[in-house]
Amino acid sequence: MSEPELRAAIVEVGRRLYARGYTASNDGNISLRLDDRRLLMTPKSVCKGFMSADMMVVTDLDGKKLEGDRDPSSEMQMHLEVYRQRPDARAVVHAHPPIATGFAVAGIPLDRAVLAEVVTTLGSVPIAEYATPSTKELPEAVRKYVKAHDGMLLANHGALTLGADVFAAYYKMETIEHFAHISLVARLLGGERLLSRQEVDRLQGLRGIYGIAAPAPICPPEDSALGPSTALGTGDPASCQTVFAPEIDGARLSSVPGGGVGPDREIRLTYRELTALIEAAVREIR
Ligand SMILES: [Zn+2]
Repeated sequence: MSEPELRAAIVEVGRRLYARGYTASNDGNISLRLDDRRLLMTPKSVCKGFMSADMMVVTDLDGKKLEGDRDPSSEMQMHLEVYRQRPDARAVVHAHPPIATGFAVAGIPLDRAVLAEVVTTLGSVPIAEYATPSTKELPEAVRKYVKAHDGMLLANHGALTLGADVFAAYYKMETIEHFAHISLVARLLGGERLLSRQEVDRLQGLRGIYGIAAPAPICPPEDSALGPSTALGTGDPASCQTVFAPEIDGARLSSVPGGGVGPDREIRLTYRELTALIEAAVREIR
C-alpha cells in the first residue's frame, strides 16, 4: 500500500473502533510500519472516530517525530516495544473494548478452549500486569507476552493487538471482544463447556494447513494433581500460549468470581452447581 492508502487505512480503523464502542472520547491508538525505519501513528488527544489522514504523525523506531503537526500518541512507547519485540508485526491497535476490558479489570484472562477459530488464530489472550498508562512500565508489562501472543488484555486498562497489516490487527481486536462477549454470556448461563485437549491439538494442526501465522504454539499440558480432567497447558508466556483444555470433552469450569482453577488446582463450585452434581450422582445410583 502507498502512504496515502496507509493513512486512509488508519482513519478507517479508527472510525470502526469508535463506531463499535471500542474507544470512548480520545481513547485508543493505532500505528503501522511505513518502511524499515519509519512508523505512522495516530496523534495524541483526538477522537479515533473523527480523524483525517493529515493528522497522522511519522516517527522513527525510537519514537522521534519526523513529520506531522501534532504529537504522537501518549501510548507510543507500548507500540515501539511491540515493533522491537516482533519484527513480523506491521501494525498495532490499542483500544478499550468494554467486555474484554471488563475481563481485564476483573483479572480474568481469556484462556479457555471454547471457540475453534480463537484457538486456531489467537490461541489464548493473557493479561499483562497493570502499569500506569503512558509510563515505561506499560511496555515492560507487554514485553512478557508479546513474543508469543498477537493479542492481550492490559490489566485495568484495555486490550492490545498486532498484525501483518492494520486491518489484521483491527480484526484481532474484534475477535477478542467477540470472544469476551461469548465467554461472558456462557458464564452467565452456567459456564463454558470446554473443548478437549485432543481437539485443541487438532485445531493447532490446522494452523499449518491454513497457513495461519501464530507466533507460538499452545503450551503442552502439565500433569495435574487432580487428574487429567483439569489439564492446563502452561509454560513460559514468552514461548507458548496457555490454554485451558481438559482431557475429557465438555468439562466445565466454575463461574464463581475469582474461582476457576486456582494455584492449588482446586475447583470451586457454587452451591447450586454442587447441588446439581450431587443430584446427578444420586440419580445415577438409583
Ligand atoms: Zn488505553
